[in-house]
Amino acid sequence: MHIYVAGNITVDETWQCETLPIKGESLLGKKILQDIGGKGANQAIILSRCGLPVTLIAGRGDDHYGQWIKENLRNETLAFYPPTPLATHTDTSIILTTADGDNAIVTGSEAAERLTTEIILQALGQAQPGDVLLQQGNFSVAKTRALFAFARQRKMLTVFNPSPVQAGFAALWPLVDIAVLNEHEARLLAPDPATTQVVITQGPQGAVLYHQQQRTHVPACPAAAVDTTGAGDTFLAVMLASALLRGGLPDKLALLHASRAAALTIGRRGTYRAFPNGATLAALLHSGQ
Ligand code: ATP
Repeated sequence: MHIYVAGNITVDETWQCETLPIKGESLLGKKILQDIGGKGANQAIILSRCGLPVTLIAGRGDDHYGQWIKENLRNETLAFYPPTPLATHTDTSIILTTADGDNAIVTGSEAAERLTTEIILQALGQAQPGDVLLQQGNFSVAKTRALFAFARQRKMLTVFNPSPVQAGFAALWPLVDIAVLNEHEARLLAPDPATTQVVITQGPQGAVLYHQQQRTHVPACPAAAVDTTGAGDTFLAVMLASALLRGGLPDKLALLHASRAAALTIGRRGTYRAFPNGATLAALLHSGQ
């Protein structure tokens, strides 16, 4: 079984400012962090650290950020497609934060958009029945739909984390086996637990699994939250890994494993640098209820 994650990869720059700038203003700030991010990359990296074979299908640009990503991920075990950079800028997020916790974020998506359906289908050419296609919300509705339709034809398991949310995603549920969303996304997109296994995350309140008539709530692990970035990605990847490694669909134990892993990520600043390593994840995935 092989997991294909079709999504994005970004460089996230965090800048500390006294206040957020208003229109026309120039102000001094301090760059406090540069990290790898992007929901596709985050989820693919954690799935591979859980010991699963993963291909990340995500575009990076032919600039110094793309090179920086390549150097920083050289010790990860996942495969990358396309192997060469795209002729564009690497997608970047500029995060402005203030001491009182306010923030403003600007995100680019050109590399994700340049990754055409045709390029992604080349990567999926080797996929077999029983393999997994995982997507997030970084592609257009049409591209997301075309990839899930291909996966369904191939008899792959389809997993959708529709973030950032787009209203048109609500029409894709018939193509999705497992949906993972936060409460805001669930309200907007209303997946149907009769046909799709649905997991709704609720931040510090935990997460709920809906499957047919059953509802299972798992509380969050108590954690001193330093930075909640990447909590949702850690949760999804570990939940999926826990289920797949035991040969089934997400269950209560998978959600418990996911909550424990998410609590580790939020206890550290950053995204990539905050993720638990392979040894920690291996021990966690062997823990019981
Ligand atoms: P993000 O996009 O910010 O990564 P999300 O909105 O996709 O997050 P959340 O519902 O905020 O996802 O969080 C996912 C999971 O992470 C929760 O179900 C919970 O297990 C864990 N979590 C999030 N915030 C906290 C917290 N403050 N304390 C403990 N666990 C948390």
